[in-house]
Amino acid sequence: MSTHFSKIEVLGCSGGIGVIGEGTTCFLVDEDVLIDAGTGMLRLPLERLEKIRHVIVTHSHLDHICGIPLMIDSVSRANSEPLQIHALPETIQALRDHMFNGVIWPDFSRIPSIEKPAIQYVELDCQDEQPHAFKIGERLFTAIPVHHSVPSIGLTVETPTGAWAFSGDTHKTEEFYKIINLMKGMRHVLVEAAFPDHELWLADLSLHLCPSLLAIELEKLIPQAEVWITHLKPNEKALIEKEIKSYCDPDGLKPTIQQALGFLKTGQVFEV
Ligand SMILES: [Zn+2]
Ligand SMILES: [Zn+2]
Repeated sequence: MSTHFSKIEVLGCSGGIGVIGEGTTCFLVDEDVLIDAGTGMLRLPLERLEKIRHVIVTHSHLDHICGIPLMIDSVSRANSEPLQIHALPETIQALRDHMFNGVIWPDFSRIPSIEKPAIQYVELDCQDEQPHAFKIGERLFTAIPVHHSVPSIGLTVETPTGAWAFSGDTHKTEEFYKIINLMKGMRHVLVEAAFPDHELWLADLSLHLCPSLLAIELEKLIPQAEVWITHLKPNEKALIEKEIKSYCDPDGLKPTIQQALGFLKTGQVFEV
């Protein structure tokens, strides 16, 4: 990498499919690193897919992994080096057992040959809920265990000029905010909010956030960071947005969101 900043392109930020042109979680960092591989990946033509050399997978849920098998089939012949898949050991095991298992899709970690496979798994060592930092080029990534229905991470990305963070799919979490508050130049924080407040029970059950939980979570975050909301369920999008906006206006009754806040959009680009 010769640049000192990093570019983030939002390819998908929806909690589901059903809106033409929008897809599930998928962020492109510069041209070579993908964070999650949801249906947002469909926005990329082949020549851009071929430039991706790393996929960081936050967790094993289908809306975050479904692009990997089709992508590897399209790009493996263009690259002599394997595509690196960075994930928790439990996520890697789920990919091996349930996706690249020879039934749903071939085991690309063994083909075309064991010596020169199309994909290579790289374990993120977050044992005992510890964060795990690793570098790809000049960018320092830190995987932070969060609280979801399967083992799951949030991520931070630090460059020489700033930092940004992504909560992944999560319910209430302490560690994520503790770590990002200590980072210099934390500019953008992408946080999920999957359900509206009348589905608080579902948020609690599936370990996602809804607006009231989000407002409590954001009290833990330094006020200077800009917050971007992601992973809204498409059929409840308007309601969730309206409810979140109501927490941005102080009324003396509810917790008030202090940060500048926006809703993440497909095609949005950040430079950090
Ligand atoms: Zn999930
Ligand atoms: Zn999800």
